[in-house]
Amino acid sequence: MSMTSNTRVVVIGAGLAGVRLARRLGELGTPALLIGEEEHRPYNRVLLAEVLAGRYSPDVIALPAPAELTRTRVTGIDRAARTLRCADGTEIAYDTLVLATGSNPVLPPLRGLFTPDHELPEGVHAFRTMDDCLGLSKAVRPGVRAVVIGGGLLGVSAARALAMRGAQVVLAQQSERLMERQLDPAASKLVRRHLTDLGVEVHTDLRVRDVRVVGGAVRSVEMADGYALDADLVVLACGVHPRVGLAKAAGLAVHKGVLVDDRLRTSDPHIHAIGDCAQHDGNVYGLAAPALEQADVLAALLTGNDTARYTGTRSLTRLTLAGQAPFDLAAFGETEPRPGDDVVQLTDATRGTYRKVVVRDDRLVGGVLVGELGTVGALARAWEGAEPLPSDGGPLLHLLTNDGGS
Ligand SMILES: Cc1cc2nc3c(=O)[nH]c(=O)nc-3n(C[C@H](O)[C@H](O)[C@H](O)COP(=O)(O)OP(=O)(O)OC[C@H]3O[C@@H](n4cnc5c(N)ncnc54)[C@H](O)[C@@H]3O)c2cc1C
Repeated sequence: MSMTSNTRVVVIGAGLAGVRLARRLGELGTPALLIGEEEHRPYNRVLLAEVLAGRYSPDVIALPAPAELTRTRVTGIDRAARTLRCADGTEIAYDTLVLATGSNPVLPPLRGLFTPDHELPEGVHAFRTMDDCLGLSKAVRPGVRAVVIGGGLLGVSAARALAMRGAQVVLAQQSERLMERQLDPAASKLVRRHLTDLGVEVHTDLRVRDVRVVGGAVRSVEMADGYALDADLVVLACGVHPRVGLAKAAGLAVHKGVLVDDRLRTSDPHIHAIGDCAQHDGNVYGLAAPALEQADVLAALLTGNDTARYTGTRSLTRLTLAGQAPFDLAAFGETEPRPGDDVVQLTDATRGTYRKVVVRDDRLVGGVLVGELGTVGALARAWEGAEPLPSDGGPLLHLLTNDGGS
């Protein structure tokens, strides 16, 4: 066993948050050691669906490489000795440790989902890593029957990417509509229409119960009511959960994610956490913008800016489904009004555009834009600032129609 002596900051996880932090620290003169288990060059996970759709090659989504990257998996943290154990047998010492371990895909409790040695059967894929994406990409060809389980942002992106590659896609969503976490019913309907136009068969209120495997490969997916769909490919897009195994085993405070304060410190002052694996003020975001913001704040703190604080991110969900008929969508905050809220809504059925904002006590609390994103910049600023809206002359309609300066 070799022992690497190290007085620098050590970051576990070379995803969006870890790479951003390591780069910022390098720029600020405090190089960090970055440890990542994935064998590919660090990449922008948000763009994986574009790789699957065949629009980008994997090189295009590579992140600017950080100076020092060690490829191995960290398997344990010894907090008393301040060392890490790695899968390759090395031990790495740290003064300050940062967990940027991201999320794992949720694997739903379906019968037949695992082989006896706890692997996914041939043809069944999660959709989280470049390896997942390349595996799916290799298996998809025109006419392949693909079932995507889950109709959130991830499932919608996967279904559309597979359809663009010529697969016959069925999207099975358990709840009553697509992307229900971000979208109101009208916007959900437009997403559904867009997928249907691409040839995707969308089923809502549909619960998958079983994955049928023959000779080690998936053959069909069976519903709770007994109905079966033939499948050569199955994509699991059932959400993610923060990757907290290392933190838990080391005895750090963990709820859904690793608990952090406004300085992104865990319950051990020598250890910080950022990105999908962190839980700040009750929130586990699972989104790129908060991960990057947390990395920036922590870089400032670790390079002597003691006043930097992370106070939460008001982050907007954007989805762009490119193709012959491109589809753009942005949603933020509360998209469904409470009694007493003001709502302004503009719909153009022929052009497939939809715009809506929700206002409470003169403050913008949420909105959704489909197809027509000209006003998104102005709206996002009004929402992020949480300032009272000007009360003169129909400000609501103005917000939806004024696309100047965005
Ligand atoms: C297909 C897809 C589309 C998405 N689209 C959007 C979108 O449109 N908008 C948006 O805001 N977000 C989107 N997301 C979510 C976004 O990608 C995540 O929020 C973001 O990547 C979080 O960054 P992170 O650095 O915390 O985690 P990750 O990017 O997951 O990086 C964590 C890294 O840590 C590594 N790691 C973990 N444990 C260890 C260990 N013990 N040793 C070594 N390495 C380890 C992992 O292998 C991984 O490389 C999407 C995600 C996917 C999968």
